[in-house]
Amino acid sequence: QRGQPLRGRRGGLAALGGKPFQARQLSHRVYKHGAVDFDECQNLPKSLRTRLRDRGPLLQSRIVKTVRSADGTSKFLIELRDAEAVEAVLIPEDSRNTLCVSAQVGCPVACVFCASGLDGVRRNLSTGEIVEQVLHARRCLDPGREITNVVFMGIGEPMLNLDNLLPALARIHDAEGLNMGARRITVSTAGYPEHIDRFARAPHAFNLAISLHSADDALRRRLVPTAKSNVQEIIDAGRRFAASTNRHVTFEVVLLAGINDRPRDASSLVRSLQRVPCTVNLIPWNPVEQIPDLRRPPRHRVEEFAQLLRAGGLNVTVRRQRGADRSAACGQLRILERRSDATVRNQD
Ligand code: SAH
Repeated sequence: QRGQPLRGRRGGLAALGGKPFQARQLSHRVYKHGAVDFDECQNLPKSLRTRLRDRGPLLQSRIVKTVRSADGTSKFLIELRDAEAVEAVLIPEDSRNTLCVSAQVGCPVACVFCASGLDGVRRNLSTGEIVEQVLHARRCLDPGREITNVVFMGIGEPMLNLDNLLPALARIHDAEGLNMGARRITVSTAGYPEHIDRFARAPHAFNLAISLHSADDALRRRLVPTAKSNVQEIIDAGRRFAASTNRHVTFEVVLLAGINDRPRDASSLVRSLQRVPCTVNLIPWNPVEQIPDLRRPPRHRVEEFAQLLRAGGLNVTVRRQRGADRSAACGQLRILERRSDATVRNQD
């Protein structure tokens, strides 16, 4: 629904005596002026604001904790109305401000190296809850700065929540919403071919990143144990996406020392991706306290791996680690909070 206010659950404003133009005014306040509270919607009559507020808050979520790293990265713990929580991470870099957002509460994919799936999935985020991460985060920027890029690389598997994700993307992209270009929005998936095909048919061509990790089926299944599709099916979905949207696909490879960072792992990636219009993004693993048996490869090893891929003709980028001093990896802040909650509860 274009330009609907966040809590514009159908007819909500009208039921309280509001006019359609007032719904647009409310939405304008939220998307263009960053209002997160009815009190900040001074363009609505006070009586209407009071009636609205009596029915509940403007947004469905709130930031309950902000953790800033020395390198400028801010991580937000966002609490939802049912007391669940998700994370969003703001990464300022030169003229860019990239926001990494979540798609689900927890994650069902259970990649062996990832903190987000340690306790499974609780539920999908609603469309509003997805968009609100951006609304909250942009209020934390210095004046004059704005969020330039949104990446769905936080908690959860976006392709398993497409029903809510697609309308959220529309609101983030819409001129009457957050008005961000589709090229500035990236959705990352652990690889669900049919869902990728549906995502490719969205009215705008957003960017797609596929977490491949290995081109070897047996190894990939060890790393992503819930995967139903094999490597070839996933790469083919990426190829179809590239063909129908005219966009390069990014293949992400989280590098784990001694597991998928060997020369032969590079060779099999080269063989599988050579003819796909793509970029490979190497992500040296961010250590997770609860996963003590894995290691991040040393820097020279990552560089050698990148060189092998480049020699095989692939485009390669290496992700710089950000926010490392403050539980930077996906889902870590939420896990820490939940564990410390549990500790407190166990003590009383
Ligand atoms: N479920 C989606 C999106 C969320 S994860 C997906 O799998 O793509 C975003 C990216 O972060 C994925 O490539 C994921 O493999 C990676 N990731 C997860 N935990 C990580 C960690 N501890 N260190 C580095 N990358 C990690």
